Amino acid sequence: MATTLTFIGTGSCTPPAGNDTACFLLNGHVLIDCGWCAALSMLPTGQDPTGLTDVLITHCHHDHYMGLASVLFYRRMQRARLGDESELRIFGPAEDIERVVELARAYLQVDRFSAVQTTPEVIPVTPGDNLRIGKLDVQTAPTRHPVQGLAYRFLDTDTGVAIGVSGDTAYLPELAEFFHGADLLVMEGSTGLKEPTPDSTAGHSSVRQSARIARDAGAALLALVHVGSGSRDELLPAARKVFPATSMPEPGETLTWE
Ligand SMILES: [Zn+2]
Ligand SMILES: [Zn+2]
Repeated sequence: MATTLTFIGTGSCTPPAGNDTACFLLNGHVLIDCGWCAALSMLPTGQDPTGLTDVLITHCHHDHYMGLASVLFYRRMQRARLGDESELRIFGPAEDIERVVELARAYLQVDRFSAVQTTPEVIPVTPGDNLRIGKLDVQTAPTRHPVQGLAYRFLDTDTGVAIGVSGDTAYLPELAEFFHGADLLVMEGSTGLKEPTPDSTAGHSSVRQSARIARDAGAALLALVHVGSGSRDELLPAARKVFPATSMPEPGETLTWE
């Protein structure tokens, strides 16, 4: 009985070689965002996309959903070999998720190629909805981003471990309350050291702004991901000045709570 979180990708919109856009695997079978190619990006981390049961999308910008078609394809091909026809469940923002899943199926040409025929169960989520995924209690909250976004708070009811994932968002003080007392926060730092003004329309945060949320939430750990500009050597000390227990994880790192 343990809670695990594996960083599949930790990069921003156009990740460098050896990385993918921020996406994560919870307890080995729940994928949060799909990056450019989460299925293939899982393999070097020792994780197998065949075992995925659920995918949760934070928001439907390309760098977070593009990998969905290949996740569906990989899982379908592998499961067919095992004689297992169980379908994936896909949760995401109510405004976009049904269209995006239909587009992924259209891209796979499921009507033309019966071998890739797959009809995932799609669950549109409105920020504020509560979900149950196996032993996970999942709360959701709105983010501040140009498209509808979901921040997720996961409670593993077996271990009592709470993990918050912000997705892409501008600084939103309300998230500190939503994430209160979390064992881990995974938040973005797209603008590096540059502090976007409150009226910025890009909808992203600096590393210090995310560190402020972690501090105000009383979180145990902060993992900064989706960092678009600046070097680790300048960003990490700046964030740690605000919230000392900050890391910038590499893809393949796994955190485990027993
Ligand atoms: Zn993004
Ligand atoms: Zn985005």
